[in-house]
Amino acid sequence: MPSQIAATLRTKAASAVPTDKYLSWGRYPKAAHEHVYRPAWSDQVPGIMQAAPSGSLLAYGLGRSYGDSCLNADRALVDCRRLNRILGFDESAGMLRCEGGVTLTDIVDVYLPQGWFLPVTPGTQFVTVGGAIANDVHGKNHHRAGTFGAHVQQLGLQRSNDGLVFCNRERNDDMFRATIGGLGLTGLIAWADIRLRRVAGPWIDAELIPFRSLAEFIGLSRESDGRFEYTVAWLDCFAGKNLRGIFFRGNHSAETRQTSPPKRGPKLPFTLPEWMLNRYSVKAFNELYYRVHAAKHGPSRIRYDSFFYPLDSVRQWNLLYGKRGFLQYQCVIPETNVAAFEELLERIARSGMGSFLGVLKQFGSAPAAGMLSFPRPGLTLALDFAMRGERTLELMRSLDEVVQQSGGALYPAKDARMSPAMFEASFPRWRSFVPYIDPKMSSSFWRRVTEAQ
Ligand SMILES: Cc1cc2nc3c(=O)[nH]c(=O)nc-3n(C[C@H](O)[C@H](O)[C@H](O)COP(=O)(O)OP(=O)(O)OC[C@H]3O[C@@H](n4cnc5c(N)ncnc54)[C@H](O)[C@@H]3O)c2cc1C
Repeated sequence: MPSQIAATLRTKAASAVPTDKYLSWGRYPKAAHEHVYRPAWSDQVPGIMQAAPSGSLLAYGLGRSYGDSCLNADRALVDCRRLNRILGFDESAGMLRCEGGVTLTDIVDVYLPQGWFLPVTPGTQFVTVGGAIANDVHGKNHHRAGTFGAHVQQLGLQRSNDGLVFCNRERNDDMFRATIGGLGLTGLIAWADIRLRRVAGPWIDAELIPFRSLAEFIGLSRESDGRFEYTVAWLDCFAGKNLRGIFFRGNHSAETRQTSPPKRGPKLPFTLPEWMLNRYSVKAFNELYYRVHAAKHGPSRIRYDSFFYPLDSVRQWNLLYGKRGFLQYQCVIPETNVAAFEELLERIARSGMGSFLGVLKQFGSAPAAGMLSFPRPGLTLALDFAMRGERTLELMRSLDEVVQQSGGALYPAKDARMSPAMFEASFPRWRSFVPYIDPKMSSSFWRRVTEAQ
């Protein structure tokens, strides 16, 4: 193609398009963006950055963050989904180089059949590499492998003032640690080198164990952490002090038999009416979920996608919560403070407002990979709440009190409403991160939690 035509096409691809389609996964808050840039080539990004006013841009991946950390209300987004090229793979070291818009699905689809898997994966594979680094996401193997950022060897960071900055643990180490978990504020992750891990095939030797108290859950976690790479639990949020749940643990199987790629599941076609999700329907679901899984008690060999990504089987399941959307509350509480954890569960049960997707996990003690990484030793709880206005927000503020007093923290990737004081309590050293912010970048989340301070 003559270079002039190619240049014209590139400019068009990078042009600004007004849109209201860019939401976060919780669909709350809803933000209007002034522009969305959709570059197709990484060499278009410097021009976009240079032309932008200060504090006006934010990278956007697949919008799988629940709240407003991927939104930039009244300003601009850079949609990174077309910057999705795999740039190279060194099979001797399992080292993958790819652009920031490559998704975890892309990586698994290409490399799992060759015997490689992600070193860390969150509970959905519909996440970009840039998003996984910017939130320094964690998975069911946090106690063994730490976070996603711990497996990033180096990255190319496009900055508005310094150009393309190459960073790793030796060179520009501060910028590297600021970018991991840096909420997209240090610049645009153009590419990253990620070390994949060897697996025999697509199977997980999994085991499922019902439990009936927090002490039992902690005992199961301790006993499993040495023997199992992956551990996590589902929790009945209506059980309060009579806690019950299902503990899942597993290892990559030695079985080498290949399977067909996961089928695209059904899609929820529209938002459900709010009345369908109430304390009675959720209680009934939880009862059924507990009974069905408790009956499956014991070991089994299952496909990796059923083990890691059960929610991905229904596309757009977030529409389940109705027009006003939903919030996820994810906190971590130091393990020494079990009483605080029980108080949290008690308040949730009393409110009757939690939903069926309660997840409990014990984080390990791996040092944080990034300056603002969320995981730290303790118990982490993640629970969805349908947005029902002020009473939902009031419940969350009452949960904040417990988390703050316990010395715990909230996860920005899941947050849409924490106060500046709660952010300060969760990340007391956030001010030392500020010098690394790119002058052209900002986000709705960042303005909300820092502008008053
Ligand atoms: C069903 C489900 C399960 C989940 N389970 C987990 C879990 O187990 N553990 C966990 O930690 N998280 C989990 N999450 C949250 C999710 O993994 C994170 O929010 C992730 O960061 C989303 O990535 P994304 O590509 O959609 O990025 P977005 O949500 O679009 O953006 C997230 C952040 O990344 C920044 N960003 C995106 N691309 C770039 C880039 N190229 N350069 C610089 N910054 C960039 C954005 O500016 C923003 O700050 C889950 C989410 C869902 C919906």
